[in-house]
Amino acid sequence: MTSHDERVLSLIPYGDATTMSDLVRASGLSRPTVAGVLGRLRAAGSVEEAVVATGSLGRPAKRWRRLPQHGTFGVIALSRDAVRVRVVDGDDRNVAEREQPLDVSLDAQGALAHGHRFLRDCLTELGAPADGLSRVVLGLPCPVGGPEEHPQVRGILPDWVGIRPAERLRSLLPGTAIVVENDANLGALGELAQGAGQGGTDLVYIKLAPGVGAALILGHRLYRGAAGLAGEIGHVQINPMGQPCACGARGCLAIELNIAARHGTEWRHSLPTPAELFPAGETSDPAADRVLHRIGALLGEQLGALANVLDPERVIVSTDTMPPPAVLLDGIRDGIHRTALPVVSDLPVVPSPLGIRAELIGGIALARSGDG
Ligand SMILES: [Zn+2]
Repeated sequence: MTSHDERVLSLIPYGDATTMSDLVRASGLSRPTVAGVLGRLRAAGSVEEAVVATGSLGRPAKRWRRLPQHGTFGVIALSRDAVRVRVVDGDDRNVAEREQPLDVSLDAQGALAHGHRFLRDCLTELGAPADGLSRVVLGLPCPVGGPEEHPQVRGILPDWVGIRPAERLRSLLPGTAIVVENDANLGALGELAQGAGQGGTDLVYIKLAPGVGAALILGHRLYRGAAGLAGEIGHVQINPMGQPCACGARGCLAIELNIAARHGTEWRHSLPTPAELFPAGETSDPAADRVLHRIGALLGEQLGALANVLDPERVIVSTDTMPPPAVLLDGIRDGIHRTALPVVSDLPVVPSPLGIRAELIGGIALARSGDG
């Protein structure tokens, strides 16, 4: 498959259908090129042409839809506080999901055991064979990559040091392809498929929950970087005299965001929970608003620098709570305005409509695509 083929195919949805004009516009390719690509994809059995009645007297529009990949796909999405599993059999209409609260960072065995059991439960619910999974994606809240493509768990997931989760899952699921991916990357893929990234080609996805991670979609594809470690915006140093970070540096953005969060909530005598830190929607507490605006602005200043380099079309922000607080988004916009060139400083900053579910949707999209 050529890069043009992959690009056009990635723009064609599974459930819905899209027109040639939409594909020309979204791909940036010429109409004859897109027509050639569609001919090849149809011959390969990847897409089909559907005539959809428009409901008016005009000609019925020809639309293209992607044929469901044969197979059953699963995702185990691990966040700090829960194990979530989604299994899709054939197309997105046959779906089963499970969820279990768990301190994932302190219980690697439990997280993998729950994930494996939930996969089997979902297969049973869908009436699919127990060994029927074609590909499973494991999402982890840590960087995934480096020379051996392993999760970088030190300082983040203490109970996972020395554990090779992909090998563990392969032994539990013989014959199933296992892909390990960073959680923010899955979130970005989910937003691209069904959320605030639909129709976009160049996106920055931010996950604040309660650490900070970023993922990049460039040219409609997930950008992993040379070693798979792209997106670690939390370890941009913003205060050389700041407190030490688990990465070995000082004053990283993640550390400074934590300090900003603590600073405004010292009266609590404990670290705020994500739900306390990021209340859904509007807040009514001016002190909390100031903290959230400050957190947003610190992050936004780094996003402004990123915008100067990448010129993305939008930033999608996800927090554990839904939707992200409005004052946090305002802070991010203000930060971007301070550091981005005027021509890119009006970069739209939009809330994630999917929240944590983006990782389940993105995991299935990744499993289905065969990437990774
Ligand atoms: Zn750091």
